[in-house]
Amino acid sequence: MVRIGEYTLSFPHEPYPVQVEYMKSVLAALDASQHALLESPTGTGKTLALLCSTLAWAQRHGKKVIYTSRTHAQLKQAIAELRSTSIRVKMAIIGSRSHLCVHPKVSKLSGSTQNTECTRLVRRRECQFHLALQSSRTEHDLEVRDIEDLLQDVGLERRACPYYFSANMLRTAQVVFMPYNYLVDFQRRKALEEGDASFSIRDAIIVFDEAHNIESVAMEAASFQISARHLERCAFDLQSCIDKSGTSMSRQLYDDFVRLKRFVLNFERILDVPSEVCENGDYIFKIFERLQVTTLNYVSFIHSLERIIDYLGLKEDFEMVSDPNSYTPLESLKSAILVAFSSRREIQHFGTHLFQSQPHEKNGVLDFWCFSPSIAFKEIAQQAKSIILTSGTLSPLQTLEQEMSISFQVKLENPHVVESSQILCQILTKGPGGTSLNSAFKNRDSNSVSPMLHSVS
Ligand code: SF4
Repeated sequence: MVRIGEYTLSFPHEPYPVQVEYMKSVLAALDASQHALLESPTGTGKTLALLCSTLAWAQRHGKKVIYTSRTHAQLKQAIAELRSTSIRVKMAIIGSRSHLCVHPKVSKLSGSTQNTECTRLVRRRECQFHLALQSSRTEHDLEVRDIEDLLQDVGLERRACPYYFSANMLRTAQVVFMPYNYLVDFQRRKALEEGDASFSIRDAIIVFDEAHNIESVAMEAASFQISARHLERCAFDLQSCIDKSGTSMSRQLYDDFVRLKRFVLNFERILDVPSEVCENGDYIFKIFERLQVTTLNYVSFIHSLERIIDYLGLKEDFEMVSDPNSYTPLESLKSAILVAFSSRREIQHFGTHLFQSQPHEKNGVLDFWCFSPSIAFKEIAQQAKSIILTSGTLSPLQTLEQEMSISFQVKLENPHVVESSQILCQILTKGPGGTSLNSAFKNRDSNSVSPMLHSVS
């Protein structure tokens, strides 16, 4: 146990001075409901200090912690750190079906084909793993589990569905682990918020660990690219469905299909530009205006697109091709329209780019670029109790703060554990035996370079 101010923290060993400083900063930010930018170099035990301090504070004040990192591999490491402590809280980890599905056939699918197939089986009560989960009425225990543990404990041992197990845990979790694109991408965040688990970021402590490239992730989340080939696939999906089922559709749905197909074909023509166009963000609205989608009617356009997506998702005999992003072409189109229209109040931070990827027909591409990470973070900063952005390398902190347009009242730049006096910088061209130290690609597999480097160190 470690005492910091009025808090007693469960810590697995005597903390280093840099860890104490780090935990003091976390607790100061949380006590004052402020946001924090905390830099602590690799090797300083940052993640452990971060988990122990945020969870101690959250447990005392009854708040939820949303812990995010860039990849599942990094989350796995953070969960291993949590396991090394005596802290036990109700936890959940968010992963996609591609990580968590254990159904022998559905687990081999990908993207939205997988999502759709799972939804169909669940609706028809035909997935044994989902049924097993329902019949066992699992209580939220205090086990610390990463994705592999879920697959083992829930999928293999209990023969139940880890994906829905995890979603159920989300309801009552005190700490939720997820990759940070689930929060930064507003459509993914909305999908979580509108899901069954009534997930919310309001008043939560949100941690972005390994946040050194958070700006590019945030800008990417508010950008999109649509190509003529993509639109061609949309048109193909729409026409296939009209051909197969047009006569059995309601009048309204049929009109939705026809209207959307016209939109897609016109969009394709607009992308067929003779030369590159680089314009400000609001040029995107000129494009949509030519397609008769404006700020006044885009909501109803999205609704009609959603009716079509739902219809296609439910049709047994129709299989849409999905991209690796797990969106079907029509879902990506919907996402692009939503991104464009939700950016209109801050359109000065965007740019529009039209070009031909290959110099012949049907290779037009439209890029809508976001140039400010603040766009994706605005709503998060308004709703969260505190944001803690942390990494081994964040400096210069002031520049990052300006780019994010968030006031981080607590800042810390921890020193390296290794003193500069302990570091020797020299250029070595030869090893102890006089052989040249050359790590060029052709020498990579050579048996002489690696042992020589060891002998130098
Ligand atoms: S319910 Fe679970 S196991 Fe069954 S198909 Fe869906 S994700 Fe896979």
